[in-house]
Amino acid sequence: MSQMKLYSRNAVRDIGARHGFHATKSLGQNFLTDKNVIDKIIDATDIGENDLVIEIGPGLGVLTCEAAERAKKVVGIEIDKSLIPILEFTLREYGNVEIINRDVMKTDITDIIEKAKAEDPGIENVRVVGNLPYYITTPIIMKLLEDGVPADSITVMMQKEVADRVSASPGGKAYGALTVAVQYYCEIAKVADVPKECFVPRPKIDSTVLRLDVRSEKAVELIDEKMFFVCVKAGFSQRRKTLLNCLTGLNGMDKAEIRLLLEGIEIDPMRRAETLTIDEFAKLANKVEKERTK
Ligand code: SAM
Repeated sequence: MSQMKLYSRNAVRDIGARHGFHATKSLGQNFLTDKNVIDKIIDATDIGENDLVIEIGPGLGVLTCEAAERAKKVVGIEIDKSLIPILEFTLREYGNVEIINRDVMKTDITDIIEKAKAEDPGIENVRVVGNLPYYITTPIIMKLLEDGVPADSITVMMQKEVADRVSASPGGKAYGALTVAVQYYCEIAKVADVPKECFVPRPKIDSTVLRLDVRSEKAVELIDEKMFFVCVKAGFSQRRKTLLNCLTGLNGMDKAEIRLLLEGIEIDPMRRAETLTIDEFAKLANKVEKERTK
């Protein structure tokens, strides 16, 4: 089968018929059938000839083969065993592709990258790419960031609603713990909005591709990173409540102590977490940490 056919609606049906494959809804299998979108994702991934690409969920291989054309090596992590023989077939022309049949959530991606670099010291940038399965979009992004996977960029398709949350500004409904966490680790650029018509089977919702560039220096200076995330989580624990109420109990502090602490860093205790900038969250976390270790 030529590459041309891979991303057409008929190709998905033909491959399914030939291999007895049916898309599994619970695995978030919505295959991309729009060449323009595929090109946009691959262009935004900015793959150099000495780069290593890690693809999450290669599916039938539409992004994989385009990445393989440009990269030194591509490693695809695909959970669905029934897609492995299909990928062997669709990617048979590419000697630089390795498919690992595993759950990405249980995969040590840092280890894969280190091994690839040890095998080939000429590898330059590491690019993560994927049309992410919807049911675990946020856990995958957070795993990549929290595990400190040594990737230079992460270009991923996700539900539009999640992309809106990731790239939100303070003050709006979309701004939350996910926003603060991702923006703490990365600079974010929108690549494209992708309507549901670009997939087979067609999902119920539209999607967005974002490129996340992992910051070499974090967005804010923290005494203790863990305390920052404890404060963010506590702040957003009850969105409708004030910071004063949400933070009471934090680090064993009562209401009066929290009020004093917030006033000490010039944050109105009556504000809600969704109005705090990342800098303000950092100020809060650093103050709580100083109090804790006094
Ligand atoms: N990349 C293909 C494309 O764009 O057409 C497929 C994208 S589809 C939205 C998501 C892919 O992720 C599917 O192939 C699915 O089987 C795979 N997947 C789902 N859960 C996974 C997991 N936990 N680990 C690895 N792959 C997973």
